[in-house]
Amino acid sequence: MSKRIAVLGSTGSIGTQALEVIRENPEQFKVEVLTAQSNIKLLIKQALEFKPNAVVIGKPALFDKVSESLSPHDIKVFVGEESLSQIVEMESIDIVLIALVGFAGLKPTLNAIQHKKQIAIANKETFVVAGEIVTREAARNKVPVIPVDSEHSAIFQCLAGEHYNPIEKIYLTASGGPFFGRTKDELTNVKSADALKHPNWDMGCKISIDSATMMNKGLEVIEAKWLFNLRPDQIDIIVHQQSIVHSMVQFEDGSIKAQMGLPDMKLPIQYAFTYPERLANRFKRFNFADYPVLSFKEPDAETFRGISLAYEALNKGGNMPCVLNAANEIAVDAYLRDQIGFLEIYSLIEQSMLKVDFIRNPELDDYIETDKETRKKARAMINALKPNKI
Ligand code: NAD
Ligand code: MG
Repeated sequence: MSKRIAVLGSTGSIGTQALEVIRENPEQFKVEVLTAQSNIKLLIKQALEFKPNAVVIGKPALFDKVSESLSPHDIKVFVGEESLSQIVEMESIDIVLIALVGFAGLKPTLNAIQHKKQIAIANKETFVVAGEIVTREAARNKVPVIPVDSEHSAIFQCLAGEHYNPIEKIYLTASGGPFFGRTKDELTNVKSADALKHPNWDMGCKISIDSATMMNKGLEVIEAKWLFNLRPDQIDIIVHQQSIVHSMVQFEDGSIKAQMGLPDMKLPIQYAFTYPERLANRFKRFNFADYPVLSFKEPDAETFRGISLAYEALNKGGNMPCVLNAANEIAVDAYLRDQIGFLEIYSLIEQSMLKVDFIRNPELDDYIETDKETRKKARAMINALKPNKI
């Protein structure tokens, strides 16, 4: 029987690649739900092609247009944040792919877990905000949470068959982003248009900026801590600019396993859908002769402070990673609008981590409140920083 999939965030980079995987394998997969925040042109096109049971459009003002186009085709249309969380409860869904960006992923993920749906998760921010609750709820409901993020999928794949073997450490590989090797001075005036040009991956705007600041790798350290139950000192970052080795696990006997391949998110997406099986496909194959050298270098965490700030938040624990995430979301948004400079992304996060009240053992409501408070404080700081630009 085919697996029925809800694609949350179907119009994004991960969402559209997930639909490519599904399109190629109509026997294996069926789209049950599609959701988008505002790109209704693409959402409608996808819905007409994949004929889901239901769609959710995020922005209320766009509901009428979507409904007009899809209701005649017997596709249910829902609107808003609450619907996005609730839609995952549908009985007919087997797997929920969380391809939403940012904090918006948290509630739908938790609700899907609580309704015992298998989760394929690309949305790393959910782990950063509330990893403890997500892993606790997944264990309590006996729900598999399969990573889609390429590094975490790599580690997950390396761990297949190693259930009883403790991990000594993991190496998260990092491409280094578009500004690798630059000094602080050289980063002062870099514009978002340059930051959006990633050398190896074609991704959404937010993760592209995160990749340039290396906050993406910082967020991934926190994501890995929760997914694989590791201490911060068991997680190392190594810059590997070719993005062929997607990450590595070192076991207690010193043996290191790596997962490799050309950079293509369709592979981890497909694996999350078919796990524990693998499915034959026609993705382009890696050729060793094309890559005579694979290189590995230390990251520069002093210049690319996304890494050091994330370790700091992780070591502090409590709601601090949630503060880090919210401040980063606001800072990235402001940077994309040219309201702040590249290095100000770091200072905004650092200041937010000092200004927001620390909660040692937060519950869900505390995370929601922390997210709100941090956004408010970060916005106020941006206003104070560049009053003439806002
Ligand atoms: P994207 O910006 O391309 O797409 C985001 C999707 O979420 C869109 O469909 C959009 O409509 C929807 N969305 C945006 N804001 C929303 C909101 N507030 N409420 C509801 N829906 C909203 O992002 P992406 O690059 O596909 O990344 C998605 C997630 O996957 C991120 O967490 C990212 O870190 C992670 N990820 C992405 C890649 C990649 O290659 N793109 C790789 C690894 C991990
Ligand atoms: Mg990644």
